[in-house]
Amino acid sequence: TGLKGTLRWLETHAVPLKDTDGNIISLLGVTRDITDRKKADELLMQKEQELYTIYSSLTQPVFMIEVEPDFKYKFVSVNKSFLNVINVKEEDVINKSVRDLIPEPSLSLVLKKYKKAVQTKKTVQWEETTPYKTGLKTAIVTVKPLIDSNGNCTHLIGLIYDITDTKNAEKLLNESKNYLDNIINNIGDPMFVKDEQSRLLLVNDAFCNIFNLKRADMIGKTLAEDVTPQEMEDFLRIDKQVLSTGIENINEESLTVRGGETRLISTKKTRYIDENNNTYLIGIIRDITERKRAEEEITKYKDHLEELVELRTNQLEKETIKAQSADLMKSAFLATMSHELRTPMNSIIGFTGILLKEFAGPINEEQKKQLLMVKNSGQHLLGLINDVLDISKIEAGKLKVFKRPFSYLSTLENTIEFLAPQATKKGLQINTQFSETTIILNSDERRVEQIVLNLISNAIKFSNQGTIVVKVDINKNVVTTQIIDQGFGIAKENLDKLFMPFIQLEGGLTRSHEGSGLGLAICKNLIDKLGGTISVQSKIGEGSNFTFTLPINNL
Ligand code: ADP
Repeated sequence: TGLKGTLRWLETHAVPLKDTDGNIISLLGVTRDITDRKKADELLMQKEQELYTIYSSLTQPVFMIEVEPDFKYKFVSVNKSFLNVINVKEEDVINKSVRDLIPEPSLSLVLKKYKKAVQTKKTVQWEETTPYKTGLKTAIVTVKPLIDSNGNCTHLIGLIYDITDTKNAEKLLNESKNYLDNIINNIGDPMFVKDEQSRLLLVNDAFCNIFNLKRADMIGKTLAEDVTPQEMEDFLRIDKQVLSTGIENINEESLTVRGGETRLISTKKTRYIDENNNTYLIGIIRDITERKRAEEEITKYKDHLEELVELRTNQLEKETIKAQSADLMKSAFLATMSHELRTPMNSIIGFTGILLKEFAGPINEEQKKQLLMVKNSGQHLLGLINDVLDISKIEAGKLKVFKRPFSYLSTLENTIEFLAPQATKKGLQINTQFSETTIILNSDERRVEQIVLNLISNAIKFSNQGTIVVKVDINKNVVTTQIIDQGFGIAKENLDKLFMPFIQLEGGLTRSHEGSGLGLAICKNLIDKLGGTISVQSKIGEGSNFTFTLPINNL
């Protein structure tokens, strides 16, 4: 401490002075004031400390390597961040060869770049993607050579700038851009985005196609030379209107690309303002040329068609009225004629009967035989007339049924009894299978009798062998009657036609049977009128089963 109280640093060298015997007799001291040097040392240390603090607290990885002969390199210093990035301890890095720490494929690249820095003595920078233990890292690495007093590069100082996250974000951005591009290009309708000056910013493939231009040749342009001046004027006017008002616009307009065919398009334009307040116009175009053409054709034909329809309707109405009245007239004629025919027929049959009974005097055997033939033919003719009368009444809608309770099974038995001689004549037997002893049916007895008579006589007519079974069952309020024969049967294709009037089925055997072909049609109509149903099951050569139902308490 000096006189004025200031602290000074002194460096003293003491040399012992000895006498001739070698005894130390005094000390010779030289003192130097080194206060300034001390201060400079301290400053240096402080600076070093500061630098180290900065170095180790840098978030970017920093390293220093020593350049050894033959372009070999070993780490001499790395900061904490470096250790963190590749997840190693300091002792695993320091004095270790670069080859042991950096994996391929980056190692080859890194060695090449180091060599370049050493040889050129210039800073070198590159990008590398390295598979570290901590994952794939992409970084920009910069190395700066340190040159010694002999001009040799002894060390390299390196700085690593990790851009993995940026790269990933870039990749994601690219992916989503591609995704959007794909979607836009896959929209079949042409679409575009324009800026406020109606210059194209984005177009899809379909848009390029209608203009037959490449995307690069359209972006930034208005395509004014590619359409007619009138079209351009209209496009720009609507662009402006939508951009300024923000009101969506759909317009049907013409598009003539470079003097080619004019197409009709429907363009929808909307305004879009992004977060940076930039205004855009988005448009979607639909080609409606074909639709318009079709619409025009339709309107052209529509008027004509209406005329045609009216004309045809009138014609048809007239024809229908004509047909209806003709039909009615036919039925009425048949009904009257049949009625007129019945009276004389009854006389013929009646008087033949009287003659046969010889009330009017005796007749010989030959006369009897011939009169019997007259009577039979007369009866057959009367049957036909009755059938024609019935069907005419039915067709004219004039057939009436009168319902009254009667014993159904008795009616059936009487009918069977009446027909038994005909059956016996052909060697056929008629059996009954009644589930009940009595059934009181509220229906039209005469018509029911007509139905069963018809069906059983058909069974006899169209059988040459076997037994005819008449089966009756009741179920709730319905009586079901089946007439089953083992006769000729009916072909499948004819089953549907059976109940139509005047149908006599073709076929060798049946041709020879007399009949009007009206019986089943009358049966069906009568059964319908009485609230029942009729159906048939039959196999050729095996026989038929005609089944009909009737309601018991038919009110
Ligand atoms: P038809 O007066 O000729 O008997 P139908 O209407 O009663 O008229 O019968 C129509 C046709 O149906 C008959 O000509 C015959 O070919 C066929 N048919 C009706 N019943 C039977 C049956 N039980 N077996 C076979 N064929 C039948």
